[in-house]
Amino acid sequence: MENLYLETVSLCPEYAKDSPAYYEERDDGMYINVECNEHGVHEEQVEGDSKFFKQGYEEDYESEGCKNPYKDHLVLPITYRCNTKCRYCYTLSNSSFPLPEDRTFETLAEIIKNFEGSINIIGGEPTIREDLLQLIRVAKTNNNRIVSISTNGQRLRDINFVKGLKDNGLDYVYLSLNDIEYEESKTIYQNKLEALNNCCKFSMPVWLQRTIDELNQLDSILDVLGTYKRVIFSVTIRAVKPFGVYYPTSQIFVSDMLKYLKKEKDYTKGTEPFNCRIILKGKQARISSWVNDVKRLDPIDCSYIISNDVMTTFHRGMKIDEVLIKNQRFLNV
Ligand code: SF4
Ligand SMILES: [Zn+2]
Repeated sequence: MENLYLETVSLCPEYAKDSPAYYEERDDGMYINVECNEHGVHEEQVEGDSKFFKQGYEEDYESEGCKNPYKDHLVLPITYRCNTKCRYCYTLSNSSFPLPEDRTFETLAEIIKNFEGSINIIGGEPTIREDLLQLIRVAKTNNNRIVSISTNGQRLRDINFVKGLKDNGLDYVYLSLNDIEYEESKTIYQNKLEALNNCCKFSMPVWLQRTIDELNQLDSILDVLGTYKRVIFSVTIRAVKPFGVYYPTSQIFVSDMLKYLKKEKDYTKGTEPFNCRIILKGKQARISSWVNDVKRLDPIDCSYIISNDVMTTFHRGMKIDEVLIKNQRFLNV
């Protein structure tokens, strides 16, 4: 192939199984082509600027990654249900697929006790489970590990709930906060700001998560970082990708975001080739993209547990869970 950049391994979107893939350089950027022997070729643009992509890809990331993925960090969904319906959602919560039953408290406690590393409790929306605080307490019986939750913040507008998180030893909160235009409603957005205020009151550290579908949605993040600088210690920014509920009509790439933020010469590499680190308002920020490159995501330092006894390396977009479950690869449904 004339414009072949290099070969790798990716996932067939129809069956979520490892398949040979290759990068191809075209006039409008870099593409990944996944060649599944059952479902044919699936192509996806991964960058608009192929020079930028190649620079990132050719750097050596191994020294930062390559930890044992089954020891260091566990991403644990405790429910697949959610109390909102974000248009950018890429979890099972908004799929038409019947949701798997929540695991029982005992099962989750067992998983937590048998794991040594740090734990990020996710959903769906983890705060809708009434036993969340007890689960955090179980996790923090090992005081050496870091325990976090990933939340849409709706329940954290209740100050007593945030106090409960703090009292039970939670280390920090990943909070999704998008531009007001990109949230499902103004009320949801306001609740998230109240959640941030409550985190300030209890000194609960926050790692902000922002998804954008327009570059100008980057502007409002600067205000938020200024207003809540006391508790926000980091921010991750991603552009919406075509694998969730919402398929964007045009794509935004990491290079576009760096340019918009005037950081195209002022970034450092992230832990893998598809993210960059910059400083925004004095805080560390990651500008990230999901690229389903199994070979290069290998060093990612976490594992993700989809069923009671099977872990998988964290994959791009949990929409793939639906494929895995449909094919009965991980759950007995
Ligand atoms: S993105 Fe998160 S908060 Fe939004 S609907 Fe999906 S699971 Fe719920
Ligand atoms: Zn396939």
